[in-house]
Amino acid sequence: MDIDQTKIPQATAKRLPLYYRYLKNLSASGKQRVSSAELSEAIKVDSATIRRDFSYFGALGKKGYGYNVHYLLSFFSKTLDQDETTKVALIGVGNLGTAFLHYNFIKNNNTKIELAFDADEEKVNQEIGGVPVYHIDEFTKQIKEKDISVVILTVPVHVAQSIADQMNDTGIRGILNFTPARLTVPDHIRVHHIDLAVELQALVYFMKHYPV
Ligand code: ATP
Repeated sequence: MDIDQTKIPQATAKRLPLYYRYLKNLSASGKQRVSSAELSEAIKVDSATIRRDFSYFGALGKKGYGYNVHYLLSFFSKTLDQDETTKVALIGVGNLGTAFLHYNFIKNNNTKIELAFDADEEKVNQEIGGVPVYHIDEFTKQIKEKDISVVILTVPVHVAQSIADQMNDTGIRGILNFTPARLTVPDHIRVHHIDLAVELQALVYFMKHYPV
């Protein structure tokens, strides 16, 4: 299973966690093989795309047999580094941030919010959802000490860039940005942007113009 991961297209890589979660459920229910048609129905990705994606993983489905669930699972767990927990920090303990602190990510995959930051004195020095909240002034120190590599950003849009600017030499390599700000960051930091308002608008647009 020695696969050059740099050859896996980004669009395929983005679907990996989705495949992984579904296959884990299949495996837990005792299923040993699965067809691309079954997978397609369950995760709503068309089966030609699934077959193409899986060919990058060296998984070749057999006609009338499907894919070996165990092979795929061990590939995904290796590729997604599920043996190791990725430590995450959250910045901005407002309504959205608080909801994330209460949401137990570790149930589904190996990421864990270890600590949170806010600028509001009333929110710091307490635990929310079992996660300690520190003042943003302690950001660099705590991030380095706790070996955090990913940050979830749920601050107001006008402070997002200045917070991102503090991440340069901290060991942070990924930002999940929930603010509408388009962040400028150095090359070693990857930003994934989730704008809930835009997603909702897109959904409504598609419902209207591409009815199923
Ligand atoms: P709330 O009702 O608690 O204010 P909200 O999600 O509507 O929630 P926002 O104004 O979006 O609030 O702010 C989100 C959080 O980000 C707040 O808890 C706020 O204190 C915090 N925040 C604001 N500026 C900073 C900053 N510079 N650094 C860290 N946290 C900040």
